[in-house]
Amino acid sequence: MTADKSKRNCPRCDERLYYLQPSCPSCESSVRWNIRCVRCGDWLEDGGDACSSCGLEQPGWRAIEHALSTTGETIRVAKDALDRPMKAGYYRHVGSVKGQWADYRRPLKGGGEIHVRSYGDHYEVHLDSVGALDSPGKHAVWYAPRVAADGGIQVIETVTKALSYSNRVVNRVLGKSEKQSPGRD
Ligand SMILES: [Zn+2]
Ligand SMILES: [Zn+2]
Repeated sequence: MTADKSKRNCPRCDERLYYLQPSCPSCESSVRWNIRCVRCGDWLEDGGDACSSCGLEQPGWRAIEHALSTTGETIRVAKDALDRPMKAGYYRHVGSVKGQWADYRRPLKGGGEIHVRSYGDHYEVHLDSVGALDSPGKHAVWYAPRVAADGGIQVIETVTKALSYSNRVVNRVLGKSEKQSPGRD
């Protein structure tokens, strides 16, 4: 098989699957996933409770975190395949101003933070390099400009820009140019 592992497609019909999705919604064949334990390197049959070789807990979550910190891609994982984020060291966190998402976060030792968004049948997991637990404002500006605008940050920027633009227009209209033409007295 020459399948690109990053694609995570159904081995039979090539339908795109969530990571660790136990069966294909298109051809209905059951799909098995092997995950490598990030501590001992052994293959695991599923994301389960603990690695049977070294006892690492929540090896599925740890494998996803490891993948994220090396690739930086967003990973979509079937919800059934993993324990709830709170059992795997995540904190509940409101990720947007309006609070419509169930969000979970887990800071990494090496900096950055894993951010989990919970949807109906899957988790969407990505790595934030700015910690939102410590600095929600910063996070909003960096990753969610729409949220920042709701909070007024971008509005201020826009007003400032508009003012400096209208100043320029006024200056031009009134003939107040910085560029005085020299030597023409
Ligand atoms: Zn399929
Ligand atoms: Zn292990």
